[in-house]
Amino acid sequence: MLLIFSPVAKACEPPAGISRLAGFLRGNNQECTLWDANLEGQLYLLKQKQSPVDTWSKRAWKNVQTNIEALKSQRLYNNNDRYQRAVRDTNRALTQSCTDFDINISLADYQDTSLSPHRSRDLLRCAEEYKNNIFFPFFKKRLPELLARQNDPWIGISINYLSQAVPAFTLAGLIKKEYPTFNIIAGGGLITSWLRGPAWVNPFTKLFKHLIAGPSEESLLKILTDTPSSGYQSPEFTGLSLDKYLAPGLILPYNGSTGCYWNRCSFCPEKAEGNPYMTLPSEQIIKDLHMLVDKYNPGLIHMLDNAVAPALMKHLIRDPVGAPWYGFARVSRELSSLEFCRDLKNSGCVMLKLGIESGSQEVLDAMDKGINLELVEKSLWALKKAGIATYVYLLFGTPSETIDRARQTLDFTVRNADGISFLNLAVFNLPRYSTECNTLELRNFSDGDLGLYSDFKHPLGWNRQEVRKFLSSEFKAHPVIRPILQRDPPFFTSNHAPLLARNTLKDNEE
Ligand code: SF4
Repeated sequence: MLLIFSPVAKACEPPAGISRLAGFLRGNNQECTLWDANLEGQLYLLKQKQSPVDTWSKRAWKNVQTNIEALKSQRLYNNNDRYQRAVRDTNRALTQSCTDFDINISLADYQDTSLSPHRSRDLLRCAEEYKNNIFFPFFKKRLPELLARQNDPWIGISINYLSQAVPAFTLAGLIKKEYPTFNIIAGGGLITSWLRGPAWVNPFTKLFKHLIAGPSEESLLKILTDTPSSGYQSPEFTGLSLDKYLAPGLILPYNGSTGCYWNRCSFCPEKAEGNPYMTLPSEQIIKDLHMLVDKYNPGLIHMLDNAVAPALMKHLIRDPVGAPWYGFARVSRELSSLEFCRDLKNSGCVMLKLGIESGSQEVLDAMDKGINLELVEKSLWALKKAGIATYVYLLFGTPSETIDRARQTLDFTVRNADGISFLNLAVFNLPRYSTECNTLELRNFSDGDLGLYSDFKHPLGWNRQEVRKFLSSEFKAHPVIRPILQRDPPFFTSNHAPLLARNTLKDNEE
């Protein structure tokens, strides 16, 4: 089977989903080829001849290959200004590669100005008119080489983000038309979100033989063969060009669980989609990580769990896996202890991503976040003291927020700025099928049959427009907050943040 990761997503680490599937299928005696069309597709565009006209584009184009190489060296990450310039210049070259198309492309995103990933008819049009897509010449060149090696008629496409939808449907349209003997199966996060909607009716039956929601290992094996599975298998990255990713050394993605052990936050898509919490035993996770570190020698492990559970952290402390790691965590009693944070640092933890969401306890309680601000402040302090960077996520415009409560978040952030290495600000989107939809006055948001969110009339009058105004004129403009936002890695954001974290911790100490 050929497993494809579609453009466009951040090309700084190998795709976790198809690597997990490869491990499982190979462990069950199924042949499997991995193709990261995202990484290769971006590198392909960056090699195409360009005729830049403005000074910035000329510089970006001239230095593009040097910058790509520099992004693979830790030296660049030791200097935030040089790093930011290399990324922005590489992105500039990428944007210049699409000036003849009606699209906006970046190192992290793909948007077609006339075709929406929220509308099935637009996606079907992408498949129909596949020759019009910017990636068509690249797909057309690479596919025959890959398909010539295939012994079976199955192709899997992994579609996790909205930015992958249009190129993925282009690819599916091309395969359907030019290689009609192959059957296509699609899975991944975006497909799961569509399929879990209660009103889902499959508009893509002519294009895909199967669509799979959630972890696809067992379903895929059932489609490919009648033999029973031999149980869990560790992920496999063999076959991917591991030295080509835009990072210094391999960043190895790994998830020990799917869903979330808390699963209560009212705004959470995991909860709205009813994704169950499933975790491997901590012993298995530690065994996997040791094996993967021995085999691939990563520079960094990216834990993809929605929240790394304290029990797993304790295992990582007892039995460090021999490579630095980072991931999402919930604020917990453990994290408020300096001793625990120091042990965690010694286990290799370089950064934790923390969904703190609000500096108002009322707002946190209304969304059932299950965290206490006193504990949050203690944890930020303990993590900072222990030398672990933090990437803090804040959410504005939730149904229980008012401008006064948003200002409490501003005060909270300023008060704890020393413990916040990086900051992500988001305006609340209401998952289309969350239980809160029943209590709010809804307005259509994406006007597409595949839309994932609903717009709503804010019950306290704190609507998106006012939220945005507050963010730009008050929050982002604050002299203590501005420098935190400015050091956020452009385009790669939290994926590159742990690589820059050392500079940040140094900055904070000065
Ligand atoms: S902790 Fe995160 S993943 Fe878990 S329910 Fe809350 S928002 Fe969702």
